[in-house]
Amino acid sequence: MAVYSRTPLAFERGEGARLYTTDGEAYLDCMAGIAVNALGHANPKLVQVLKEQAEKLWHVSNIFTIPGQEKLAKALTDATFADEVFFTNSGTEAIECAIKTARKYHWAKGQPERIDIIGFDGSFHGRTLAAVNASGNAGYLEGFGPPMPGFVHATFGDLEGLKALVGPTTAAIILEPVQGEGGARSWPDADLTAIRQLCDETGTLLIYDEIQCGLGRTGKLFAYEWATEAQPDIMAIAKALGGGFPVGACLATAEAGRGMVVGSHGSTYGGNPLAMAVGEAALAELVKPELLGHVREVAGYFTQQFAGLKERYPDVVADIRGRGLLMGLKLNTPNREFMQHARDQRLLIAGGGDNCVRLLPPLNLTIAEASEAIEKLEAACQAARARAKAAA
Ligand SMILES: *Cc1c(COP(=O)(O)O)cnc(C)c1O
Repeated sequence: MAVYSRTPLAFERGEGARLYTTDGEAYLDCMAGIAVNALGHANPKLVQVLKEQAEKLWHVSNIFTIPGQEKLAKALTDATFADEVFFTNSGTEAIECAIKTARKYHWAKGQPERIDIIGFDGSFHGRTLAAVNASGNAGYLEGFGPPMPGFVHATFGDLEGLKALVGPTTAAIILEPVQGEGGARSWPDADLTAIRQLCDETGTLLIYDEIQCGLGRTGKLFAYEWATEAQPDIMAIAKALGGGFPVGACLATAEAGRGMVVGSHGSTYGGNPLAMAVGEAALAELVKPELLGHVREVAGYFTQQFAGLKERYPDVVADIRGRGLLMGLKLNTPNREFMQHARDQRLLIAGGGDNCVRLLPPLNLTIAEASEAIEKLEAACQAARARAKAAA
């Protein structure tokens, strides 16, 4: 189906932060499959684990015990607020599970009327019907029938407005601690703490979508750890969890997960042995304090360099946003054009809402590679300036 606007660039191989086209051209990858290839392309450890598992067992039904699931679930619950995990193949399925878990919780507590999920403008939760209804992005909903009941929308940053929306039919609030597609917009820690309090006062569940901002991206294993008093009840993760192999998960506390009993949910492929083996190996790397420290160091370097770019090219760079290595530049020139200027320099960056470009490099990007990215961005800024002048 013609659902993608594709750039005519085809890659045949990758190594670390480099991608090579079918005709041998090397690109510096600062989008990493949109925060997926967090450990770089063809990471030797992940390749080895995948090969070994491929020779043993790919798939068995979830009617059997799957030791790999138990191991990865234990690693995830040890590292987070959560007690329980459901494995999926993608981010949007993890969101589906989170929404179902929240509604089922209230149902199990004898409050079946509590079905409303409150989402925020600029959010992105994936493309299944429940996920597009939760984010409320009109462009993603149009033509797919009437908006589904049970979804309510709030304005990012407007805590008073949010309070007014919470009522007797509210089930949960869903948010990305750092919005990804919305343009690298980070929630202030104090706001998350206030939202957590609001949830506690009203018996509302708090769902975090850390599909993009989680798993080391912000310099903590999960972005919610920056707001020390704002743990979620339910959390969806995916992307970096498999380092490129499709795997996602919905995490919950035992209390929030109480409605999810035998028969409540399921998946054929979710938690298959191949995904679990790679996920376990990827997570073992992502939890390492050295890697998280490295993310903070490289992010600090980028932030400093971005400030210089903004100073030298105020006509191009309007604002610097994001957290850790989920970075956004809000532009004064069209972001799609800027992405092409970057590609002309053999640099791959992502777009984002609010006329942003996003940088989401592999987390093990070196400072030398980061410095190379800045040089290429500088050249892209010059090209954007020249283009704006020529058009004026
Ligand atoms: C990518 C993403 C999703 C959807 O994940 P898929 O694997 O594409 O279904 C959901 N939420 C956020 C924040 C994302 O970045």
